[in-house]
Amino acid sequence: MFIPDVLQPLWFMITFVAFFAIIVGRYFLVSGLFYLIFYAWFPAKFKQRKISKKPYSPRQFKREISRSLVTALIFALIGTIMILLWEKGYTAIYTDISKYGLWWLPASLILSMLIDETYYYWMHRLLHKPKLFKLIHKVHHQSNITSPWTAFSFHPLEGLLLSVSLPVILMMVPMHPVMILLQLTFMTFSSVVNHLDIEIYPARFHKHILGRWLIGATHHGLHHKQFKYNFGLYFTFWDKWKKTESPLFDETFESATTAKPY
Ligand SMILES: [Zn+2]
Ligand SMILES: [Zn+2]
Repeated sequence: MFIPDVLQPLWFMITFVAFFAIIVGRYFLVSGLFYLIFYAWFPAKFKQRKISKKPYSPRQFKREISRSLVTALIFALIGTIMILLWEKGYTAIYTDISKYGLWWLPASLILSMLIDETYYYWMHRLLHKPKLFKLIHKVHHQSNITSPWTAFSFHPLEGLLLSVSLPVILMMVPMHPVMILLQLTFMTFSSVVNHLDIEIYPARFHKHILGRWLIGATHHGLHHKQFKYNFGLYFTFWDKWKKTESPLFDETFESATTAKPY
């Protein structure tokens, strides 16, 4: 497998620019696609699944996109440093699948996501302490009504806090690059879906054996409105365990997913 020699400044720059282009491209592709489908092309079709009834402020999307571009710069820098650490032999990344067996591929992904979830949940709760909220997290919560463009709209320090978890995990958990890519893809879709403000899950999914544990637009949308509930990233288990799940979740989900007569 070709790994650029990022110890050389030129390769460092090329890798950084390539990462930035991929991350920005991914953002516009995924957020853009969701925006087009749910807001531009078929707004009437999804109107009753919209969680917030108020309109967006005129400059919100512009603000979210420019902040997401800064986040992309940070993600690209951390990604490049990650390649450097890999080259130096500081990570547990491996390329020979037979080294740990097939079973380890999904197991490593699940383990990595559970660690990421735990880190995010507790970090997110810390970010809601008044001083840190004012300093860092307020920027993300400026999007009181979330949109597909909110997905990576963070204060640069929050972008940094978010991006360091995977490199740290990769120093401890052996992961194949394909599984890392899968986690990053899941992370991207999860972030866009959770900020969509339109519930895309089917009715009663919140009671489904799988749906119970998966965060979606209603769950995270309520976090942006109520602040003190629903701190999870991908999964609901920490919120359920620590009793920080919004008491309005069930009724909001049911109201968004139940067909209403016009
Ligand atoms: Zn928050
Ligand atoms: Zn959010």
